[in-house]
Amino acid sequence: MNDCIFCKIVSGDIPSYKVYEDDHVYAFLDITQGTKGHTLLIPKKHVPNVYSLDDETAYNVFKTVPKVANALKKAFKPIGLNILNNNDKPLQSVYHFHIHLIPRYEDDGMVISSVNHADDYDEDAFKALQKTIRDAL
Ligand code: AMP
Ligand code: ZN
Repeated sequence: MNDCIFCKIVSGDIPSYKVYEDDHVYAFLDITQGTKGHTLLIPKKHVPNVYSLDDETAYNVFKTVPKVANALKKAFKPIGLNILNNNDKPLQSVYHFHIHLIPRYEDDGMVISSVNHADDYDEDAFKALQKTIRDAL
């Protein structure tokens, strides 16, 4: 896809700080460096987001996550690591599937929060959610 910034990074038309590449995937430093070592892992094949990810491309990109994660752990000795993928507006800004690997450090300022709404759901409500998702598969 000609106007895709990440396709241009894969082809070398736009520079990047590459950290890993094989026949199917490409990993490079996120330009924002949300935390030290913040890395993006992408398939070389243009796929907009998770909704259109084919099995083979999913396999190729997800199987590479532990390799890059372990490299970040070894390189920077973070206290932890977040793995994040955004899909669709307003979350997603680049429509070429990518996985963020975000090493975490004490007081790094990164906010990736979890929220507990368990009190809003009784057993029937959980079962209704379960059915809705299962019916959609
Ligand atoms: P998302 O919101 O998940 O679509 O995130 C897209 C990410 O791509 C952002 O974190 C950007 O900082 C990053 N990004 C955009 N352009 C570049 C670039 N040329 N080189 C490295 N990272 C980029
Ligand atoms: Zn692309």
